[in-house]
Amino acid sequence: MASKFSHHHQLHVFIFPITAQGHMIPMISIAKLFAARGVKATIISTPLNAITLAKTIDQDRLSGLDINIETIPFPAVEVGLPEGTESVNQITSLDMMPKFFLAVDMLQQPFEKLLEEYRPDFVVADMFLPWTTEAAAKFGIPRLIFHGTNMFSQCVAGSLRIHKPFGSITNDKESFLVPDLPDKIEMTKSQVPEYITGGTESLFSVVMGKVRESEQKSYGVLVNSFYELEPAYADHYKNAMGIRAWQIGPLSLRSNDGTLDKAAKEKESSIEEHNVLKWLDSKKPNSVIYVSFGSMSKLSNGQLTEIATGLEESGSSFIWVVRKSMTDEDENYLPEGFEERMEGKGLIIREWAPQVLILDHPAVGGFMTHCGWNSILEGITAGVPMITWPMFAEQFYNEKFVTQVLKIGSQVGADEWKDWVETAEVSVKKEKICKAVTQLMSEDGQENKEMRKRVAELSEKAKRAVNEDGSSYVQFSALIEELQMSSKTSTSQ
Ligand code: UDP
Repeated sequence: MASKFSHHHQLHVFIFPITAQGHMIPMISIAKLFAARGVKATIISTPLNAITLAKTIDQDRLSGLDINIETIPFPAVEVGLPEGTESVNQITSLDMMPKFFLAVDMLQQPFEKLLEEYRPDFVVADMFLPWTTEAAAKFGIPRLIFHGTNMFSQCVAGSLRIHKPFGSITNDKESFLVPDLPDKIEMTKSQVPEYITGGTESLFSVVMGKVRESEQKSYGVLVNSFYELEPAYADHYKNAMGIRAWQIGPLSLRSNDGTLDKAAKEKESSIEEHNVLKWLDSKKPNSVIYVSFGSMSKLSNGQLTEIATGLEESGSSFIWVVRKSMTDEDENYLPEGFEERMEGKGLIIREWAPQVLILDHPAVGGFMTHCGWNSILEGITAGVPMITWPMFAEQFYNEKFVTQVLKIGSQVGADEWKDWVETAEVSVKKEKICKAVTQLMSEDGQENKEMRKRVAELSEKAKRAVNEDGSSYVQFSALIEELQMSSKTSTSQ
């Protein structure tokens, strides 16, 4: 009888993302990666998210990948959220967040039912689902964590937590060195998340505490990054922080054939892809700056006006993805006559753009980004230098990685960490935006040339990492082999 002990036992993984675009996109890629290596992958999702999800894995199923979806109802109404809320992207104010996390915690019981029913060999679950470690352990199943970020930022956060170098600093804008890291990293207190600097307990400090605790008890961490991008931090993370980790990215590149992952284009675009590409085809190489702030940030009208003016005054061609704050009802955030003047020069995309395709186009020569990790890694993979405009979460750490370690971008000058994705303020004025764009897009300047050269080299390394024999491919193989072994051992006991 072909038993679990035979060489052909098919591993089964549960992939459980938190329902936020920036986490779901890479985790669906992880599911596909596993499935492409013969592992059965079951994505755990919620009913509405599952509808979109089903479309993104259709093609993969047709091509024979063993990839499925199981749903758990999301108890939105039970916790006082509007019916149909299932995703962080639908949360419109900070005070809805505790309810969202409560609903997420209520998924534990139904999740355990699924574990009991299917008995997968291992679970890969999002950092924001810390209880999955304990849930999986009840059935003797190991859990791996996906944070959605890189190793550098984990190391910075670890150092800030332990050493509190901002403790004696009274001026929020004064720079200090982040201790005990492979490089000299400078930041200011105003850029450090409040859940680290704050003395009192907050929703996020409690959540992050649980996340850290679960890290200690989990099997290890999967990272969307590749060894050659941050070797010193990969080593530091494992040695100084003592957590096992596998770097298996860039996840926006599909396994070993270098083709783009459809998951990155998962959401419906507000604009036809071919229209964007046609528009870009008419532009000179490296002449267009792509401006986008990810899937969550929503800017105030005042800030949008500053960006419009800054872009216009820079004289550069641009693609700008506009996601406006819902609290500003006024639709008139563009300066008078802006769209007519920018005809042919600038393309505005509302809400959602095919980002990976845009970044990969040869006409795109710069990326103004909010420093979400997926965006930065997609920029690196495409070989595009950046203007960094961090806002919340771990984005200021990512900025330091881009500007101080990799040296492939410059700061626009945002200097205050925000606790929410939507603010009423103007944090960067048009003069700074114009200056940063003009500098990055200019064809001359030694610094610019060197920056472009560095990011081009990293792009090559990124592509090599996912090729067979590349570092990410090899690390992923080693993980699967290890899990295969431990599953055999546990089933033979
Ligand atoms: N994204 C996209 N089109 C958009 C905005 C975002 O395709 O208009 C994708 C982007 O390519 C990335 C993800 O959504 O994969 C955003 O993740 P990131 O970590 O950059 O930021 P977050 O949205 O989590 O703040």
